[in-house]
Amino acid sequence: MYNLSIYTIIKQLNTHIKNGLTTDQVTSNHDTFGYNVLDHRKPTPLWKKFLNNFKEFMIIILMIASVISFFIGEKTDAVIIIMIVLLNGIISTYQEMKAEESIESLKSLTTPSCVVMRNSQKMEIKAEDLVPGDIVFIEAGNFIPADGRLIDITSLKVEESTLTGESVPVEKNIDLIEGENIPIGDQLNSVFSGTIVTYGSGTFVVTSIGMKTQLGKIADLISEEKLTMTPLQVKLKEIGKIIGIIVLIVSTLIFTLGIIQGRDLFEMFFTAVSLAVAAIPEGLPAIVTIVLALGVRRLSQKNAIIRKLPAVETLGSSSVICSDKTGTLTQNKMTIMDTYYQTETDKDALIICSLLCNDASLTKEQEIGDPTETALLRYGVKEDYHIETLIEKYPRSNGIPFDSVRKMMTTIHQSEDTFISYTKGAVDELLNRCSSIMMDGKIMPLNDSLIQEIVDKNQSFATNALRVLAFAKRDWSSLPEDISTDTIENNLVFLGLLAMMDPPREEVKQAIENCHRAGIKPVMITGDHLITAKAIAEELGILREGDEIISGQDLQLISDEELTQNIEKYSVYARVSPEHKVKIVKAWQSKGHVVAMTGDGVNDAPALRMAEIGIAMGKVGTDVSRNAAAMVLMDDNFATIIAAIEEGRSIYSNIRKSIRYLLSCNFGEIFLLLIAMLMNLQVPLLPIHILWVNLVTDSFPALALGVEPKDLGLLNHPPRKKNESLFSDGLFYKIALEGLLVGAISLAIYIYALNFSLEIARTMTFLTLSFSQLIHSINVRSADSVVFKKGLFTNKFSLYAIAVSLVLQLTIIFIPFTRSIFKIVSLPLNLWMIVILSSLIPLILVEIIKLIRSAISKSY
Ligand code: ATP
Repeated sequence: MYNLSIYTIIKQLNTHIKNGLTTDQVTSNHDTFGYNVLDHRKPTPLWKKFLNNFKEFMIIILMIASVISFFIGEKTDAVIIIMIVLLNGIISTYQEMKAEESIESLKSLTTPSCVVMRNSQKMEIKAEDLVPGDIVFIEAGNFIPADGRLIDITSLKVEESTLTGESVPVEKNIDLIEGENIPIGDQLNSVFSGTIVTYGSGTFVVTSIGMKTQLGKIADLISEEKLTMTPLQVKLKEIGKIIGIIVLIVSTLIFTLGIIQGRDLFEMFFTAVSLAVAAIPEGLPAIVTIVLALGVRRLSQKNAIIRKLPAVETLGSSSVICSDKTGTLTQNKMTIMDTYYQTETDKDALIICSLLCNDASLTKEQEIGDPTETALLRYGVKEDYHIETLIEKYPRSNGIPFDSVRKMMTTIHQSEDTFISYTKGAVDELLNRCSSIMMDGKIMPLNDSLIQEIVDKNQSFATNALRVLAFAKRDWSSLPEDISTDTIENNLVFLGLLAMMDPPREEVKQAIENCHRAGIKPVMITGDHLITAKAIAEELGILREGDEIISGQDLQLISDEELTQNIEKYSVYARVSPEHKVKIVKAWQSKGHVVAMTGDGVNDAPALRMAEIGIAMGKVGTDVSRNAAAMVLMDDNFATIIAAIEEGRSIYSNIRKSIRYLLSCNFGEIFLLLIAMLMNLQVPLLPIHILWVNLVTDSFPALALGVEPKDLGLLNHPPRKKNESLFSDGLFYKIALEGLLVGAISLAIYIYALNFSLEIARTMTFLTLSFSQLIHSINVRSADSVVFKKGLFTNKFSLYAIAVSLVLQLTIIFIPFTRSIFKIVSLPLNLWMIVILSSLIPLILVEIIKLIRSAISKSY
């Protein structure tokens, strides 16, 4: 459409540049063109997912062995083994599906939105609701939501590398292009879906949506962000391999031992393979995925949307949070509290400037735009100004957009035959560009004493934690050809100051306190004035005794090494530009810290990428910052970061619980079998028993442990070290000890019950092993403190899991048919009592050990 005139396009699309489409037109366009979405690629079919569970080498061997056994001997055994393996496959597939679903449903939480004109009103809508003919407003930081033709621009630059490969932003214009087959990169009057506005702003009319866009045409080529393995999963896979090798060695040992002892070859082979299948923790990475996915869901309920799965793990080890002030620590609900101008006559010029040099808009339903600017509009309305009339009288013809490095913006307006430029921005920056001042309606030179007066006023506003903006104007009989900061933003006439209050968020004070307690350093980074920043940081408890505050200017002067040396001292950075954030993150990282960094602007993206946890804002942030971030705060709230860190610590601790449980149970079984064989006893468990306990009854409690409610006092200790081993804090010994306990008790029961008969002994061992493991899962629920303190009924999933496993176990023992299949017998009451009491031993012993340990650590 680049070679058609705007007029023709607007006519073809039956829309209106100023008023946009009507609701009826939107509905009818939806019917004709559908929605603005890209077709997703087909998900992996269910049967494939199911089959994926049987790819493990040992499982294949087991299946082959069962098939052989079916033909040469034990038919029921073979069928049961295959059924157990299938049941395990079904459980795993179901879990995998749930995990995927919960991650999938998160995507919809972060659907992009855009600002359009419809029914003569500016409004924010979901990008997927766009239709051809919509008039869309874009500004720096936006992803362009559809293809379209530009109608109006202010210094618009767009980065189109997704389509053209060219990463240098292109400067757009609205000129007609003649000719055919112009490459996308040269279609300067058009914008394309999926590209990014890096500078300026503009308006365009949507010409194509969804699969019809240029992005849609290559949608198949762009791979969706894959769910890569998290570092923890990679580590677990490696650990799993090592354990796998050990298990294989032990299984081979058991097999060889059996042969030497003259046992049945096929039976021994079966036992060894079953043990290998049961004890190799190939399910661990899957359990971790599920726990992470469920964690991601829980985090989303707390307003923290995870965009990169590894962030869930890293959250728990964050040791520094660098946070923006405005909106994250404060409410971003600004109200003008104070004003400064020379005489009453000058107030009018000041307010007009604040209303015209403004990109926000105010309707009854919505405030659209930067809260600093909507505050100005609200103030103007309160002072009885009619914004629309003003805009009509002084239509905007051009401008220089705000950027956080210059810290100011300018708009240029027509006033009959002449022009006025209005500039607003940070006081210190703007004052440098003013040469005169409005005094009683007259333009007077700006002398030193007046400058001092303004600087003092600014200081006194800032000391009261107010955010101050300065306003200025300049009249032009004709405009320079090149509209830029150098040509326009100088020799300005100073009009006055407006000071606004942005109250701290209520909950942040407590969150900062939690931060300190949890050994996490909170750091404030702000573009605001040093004194305003200091006042707020003190109020919130970020700036404490001994802490220092540094300005962007001073930061510029010190070297990276010097900053690294002193980094722990600085807790407030004022008047910084986004580039400084990268320097700050680097300095913390070189001290070995794990950094969480917030950001909302386009220029924040590099720092967000560099930090271990880049955090973007869901409400005010730009699309670009969200895309670079690992986590998005739906409520833009600092307190949410702390809640997420607590959740992250809890998730990590729960993953360790699942590992502790599964590995200690596996270890117990290996111990039982190996020692029994060494003692030259009959095999205490049949292959079906081993597989049943491991693949069916164990898996429910292991998962339930992954959703344990938070341990007590998660925020009472410093964050875990960056490269801390998964088995730190004696986890390895706990696994060994608890495994030994479960194994030894089952072995003791076996030896004791052999006095009655082999069948009774196997039945009792089978029951004791599975019951003691279920009961042991209660131990693991609370890592170090006594589980009774946490409450036995606080994890309903754990109760369900134990109940389900128990019912399954009881079913096979009480129903004669299954009893005979599993080759077990019914027990007299006294033996039942022995089974139950001995199954309780691990719970009692481990809890006693926990008690003693905590008593010892307290006494130090
Ligand atoms: P933070 O960095 O804590 O989020 P901030 O909003 O102060 O806070 P920037 O957006 O970088 O940070 O703004 C820096 C300075 O630029 C502000 O202190 C203010 O003086 C000025 N400023 C902010 N918004 C505007 C605006 N819309 N127009 C003109 N000047 C602005």
